[in-house]
Amino acid sequence: MPLALYDAWSRTLRPFTPLQPDHVGMYCCGPTVYDHAHLGNLRTYVFEDVLRRALAANGYTVRHVVNITDVGHLVSDADEGEDKMEKGSRRTGESAWAIAERYTAAFQQDWRALNLLEPTVWCRATDHIAQQIDFIAELERNGYTYRTADGLYFDTGRQDDYGYLARLDVSGLQAGIRVAVGDKRRATDFALWKFSPPGSTRQMEWDSPWGVGFPGWHIECSAMSAQYLGPWFDIHCGGEDHIAVHHSNEIAQTQARHGTRLANFWLHGHFLMLDAGKMAKSGGDFVRLQTVIERGVDPLAYRYLCLSAHYRSSLRFNWDALHAAQAALTRLRSAYVKWPVGGEADAAALTRFNAEVDQDLNLPRALAVLWDVVRSDLPPAVRRATVDRFDAVLGLRLAHWREDAVTIPPSIALLAERRLAARVAKDWSEADRLRGQLNTAGWQVEDGAGGQVLRPLD
Ligand code: AMP
Ligand code: ZN
Repeated sequence: MPLALYDAWSRTLRPFTPLQPDHVGMYCCGPTVYDHAHLGNLRTYVFEDVLRRALAANGYTVRHVVNITDVGHLVSDADEGEDKMEKGSRRTGESAWAIAERYTAAFQQDWRALNLLEPTVWCRATDHIAQQIDFIAELERNGYTYRTADGLYFDTGRQDDYGYLARLDVSGLQAGIRVAVGDKRRATDFALWKFSPPGSTRQMEWDSPWGVGFPGWHIECSAMSAQYLGPWFDIHCGGEDHIAVHHSNEIAQTQARHGTRLANFWLHGHFLMLDAGKMAKSGGDFVRLQTVIERGVDPLAYRYLCLSAHYRSSLRFNWDALHAAQAALTRLRSAYVKWPVGGEADAAALTRFNAEVDQDLNLPRALAVLWDVVRSDLPPAVRRATVDRFDAVLGLRLAHWREDAVTIPPSIALLAERRLAARVAKDWSEADRLRGQLNTAGWQVEDGAGGQVLRPLD
């Protein structure tokens, strides 16, 4: 059975065929780096990582692009309020640029701790201002823009099918509008370029044909995906919150410039919830991966927890569920380490596992197949080889786990994190001081290509 994926554009489960034989282009909306990522954000990246691994297991070479939003994402999705970066800067007293650096580094550390495959391209919005300006200039030439006192806007009234992805009832929306839309013509119109407020200088601003200012949030994804994947590529992903505004606007822009709807498949991860509601950065009520680690839970236990729910159903986070996931992972590891190498994977089990993965990434059922194999009477070496194949998709690093693996105490993890932050801020003397403290506590720290590595001193 071929791989089938649920596509939000057609709202159907469709057999996946790439646009070019054997190759898949995949764009995933990345983090807004004004604060730490929370477990909810990370759930979406785990789903995207599993998708990428499933594509690879189907024989495709995947070109995976992830952006870093370091400018332009305003506090409200209606193009009002402050830029999240500048707001973060007021909160912490650091420059917007330093904040972006620090939270990008912290995000990438979480990324690696969850064993997410490195994207083919990481791209920052602030490194692609020229491409965004070019894109907007082309939209202007095509007659899709208008100017207001505070910026240049996209005229969604020019597109009959604006908002199709979200099945937006645009006329109903306009009629029901009670909130002020400022100078915008329609509630659904959105900023392409915002002017710096008159009389003040922003930390992040650039010259443009329309005046000094900064790009709107949506244009970066249309511009960077076109640069790295072309204007028509295979798969676009993000969290479900992106459907109604961000992805609808990306599509509107790309349609107006290139005449395509960006991607052949649109996939969205459903939210991680707290008992009180959704986990959100703006709500301030969120759990970070670092907190999980400090509480002595393996970050891969969080990955396991994500795999235990289908990506298109919401998942409720609580510590009991996480501890249960940790217990399951520990049971799996303890079984796995006892199995010898040298066997061959069991073809029937592989077929069953792949069938679940290929059915819109049904990981809960794929995990059930895994546990059947663990408990089966297949020869231990066969179980190991089979589970190794499964783990290429699950990404639990089973072959790398050691029973005597060191656990890093929370106080040491905290020192190491502060040292990393000092390095990112180029505060070398503070970084050295913290290294000294780590050494005194019996730990050595090395900076490698994959980030910072901690080891007990010999
Ligand atoms: P942001 O850093 O806020 O731009 O979001 C980064 C990614 O996380 C986006 O794909 C969002 O859709 C996704 N996201 C935000 N909140 C959650 C949540 N509670 N659960 C799952 N994904 C989320
Ligand atoms: Zn995006």
